[in-house]
Amino acid sequence: MIRAVVWNENVHEQTNEAVAAIYPDGIHNCIAQALDADTGIASTTATLQEAENGLSAARIDQTDVLLWWGHAAHGEVADVVVDRVADAVWGGMGLIILHSAHFSKIFKRLMGTPCNLTWREAGERERIWVTARGHPIARGLPEHFDLESEEMYGEPFAVPEPLETVFISWFQGGEVFRSGLTYRRGAGRIFYFRPGHETCPTYHDENIRRVLVNAVHWANPAAARITNVHYAPSRDVSDALEPISERGPKLHAPGEEGLR
Ligand code: ZN
Repeated sequence: MIRAVVWNENVHEQTNEAVAAIYPDGIHNCIAQALDADTGIASTTATLQEAENGLSAARIDQTDVLLWWGHAAHGEVADVVVDRVADAVWGGMGLIILHSAHFSKIFKRLMGTPCNLTWREAGERERIWVTARGHPIARGLPEHFDLESEEMYGEPFAVPEPLETVFISWFQGGEVFRSGLTYRRGAGRIFYFRPGHETCPTYHDENIRRVLVNAVHWANPAAARITNVHYAPSRDVSDALEPISERGPKLHAPGEEGLR
């Protein structure tokens, strides 16, 4: 059973009537319901307002795949939580970054680029094309599908070249956008998925829900989490697999761990 945690900043739902009408239980619970329809996934939720932003060390240890929705409150996420999530991803935890979380601290940290893009809020049609036929994240989807009303995101999207581009979106106004991107950071798999503007019913859409389920299965780590991702031990000359003799000056004592 894959343990998925759906994290949401949960701000618009509290402050905007249109958002609350579409997601009366919050975006996080809508997504968690979509995941729980799959018998292989057990999902729970976490929000910004909880202690440690809902992501204590113990919680992260019990998480196989973390989904992240944020928009208005990226700066309120504690840096210690961001560090913790980054360590977990480097150790193998899966991470799915949704829509405006392109500007989240954790995504920018893991990408190392500005992650900016162009955008327009006009309720226009988005057509999502599958560009990687046979990819596990696109399983069960048609060649393309539409969302009648979405926010536009346009290129250039300032992220590193992805490992795979699973989806490309076309918008009614003419722009295109790489809307489904895969990355690996350390041992962890990362999927960025564009749709999901808070005033649109996107997470109720069956194709979108299918993508989220597929992405959780894809991002689920294949091996046990690496917990000592920063460990940088020195290998002693006496432990070398082939005999070598020491030359030159030595700065560090035998067995000393690397500085960071
Ligand atoms: Zn948006």
